[in-house]
Amino acid sequence: AHLSFGGRRALVTGAGKGIGRAVAVALSRAGARVTALSRTAADLESLARECPGIETLCVDLADWETVEAAVGAAGPFQLLVNNAAVAELQPFLEVTRSALQRSLDVNFGAVLHVSQIVARQMIAQGVPGAIVNVSSQASKRALKDHAVYCSTKSALDMLSKVMAMELGPHKIRVNTVNPTVVMTDMGRINWSDPQKSAAMINRIPLGKFAEVDDVVNSILFLLSDKSAMTTGSSLMIDGGFLVS
Ligand code: NDP
Repeated sequence: AHLSFGGRRALVTGAGKGIGRAVAVALSRAGARVTALSRTAADLESLARECPGIETLCVDLADWETVEAAVGAAGPFQLLVNNAAVAELQPFLEVTRSALQRSLDVNFGAVLHVSQIVARQMIAQGVPGAIVNVSSQASKRALKDHAVYCSTKSALDMLSKVMAMELGPHKIRVNTVNPTVVMTDMGRINWSDPQKSAAMINRIPLGKFAEVDDVVNSILFLLSDKSAMTTGSSLMIDGGFLVS
């Protein structure tokens, strides 16, 4: 049976492009009332045209005060997908302060902050909620030039576990999905070099990268009542990379 989210309100961050955009569309088609948050106005305008009914919020997640006001006014939500992230790959010896700061702000700080705002609203409503944080296989394995990215995703996995522990008594579940490479804009920027991608694919037992839909399906599962007893877990979408 198809998953249905009728009557639920969902917030998806980083919904202008890639995985977040596909999640927003899928949730909307499954009956949820979706608010899509992203940074580039043109992306949100085209999303709203593609999928009438989706509401949009154009904010930079690194801007704490603006996020507080915008997300606070847009809620309450019962479903949250913290999907936005940046991947600025640099050799460890060349990591810059600005890349570090942006990555910490968006990949980690904004997840904490948006989740606080949304979870407070969930608790005030007194209804169950589900949060999915989009992590990566990179949270569990060291990858060359990924010092900052791997570390922020690792921190995100641990944050998700503590959130699951503290929010469980309020009937709010928190899980992560951890995909391997997906050929979105982010994937293409970092994995278009055929030698580099072949080396990664060779380490994946299923012998391929993930598709956007593979990630969308797992996120929808973890948002739905089909995963009602699952919280604090990380669902690998890595074709077996981690066990290889
Ligand atoms: P994309 O770069 O294709 O899309 C990311 C989206 O997030 C964009 O719409 C972007 O907006 C938005 N975003 C980024 N920074 C901010 C910000 N400060 N404020 C608001 N919105 C922001 O990425 P993917 O779809 O590939 O990635 C989605 C998630 O999946 C990320 O968490 C990523 O780490 C994770 N992931 C991706 C993998 C891959 O290979 N692609 C593999 C494993 C995990 P804008 O373009 O306007 O900046």
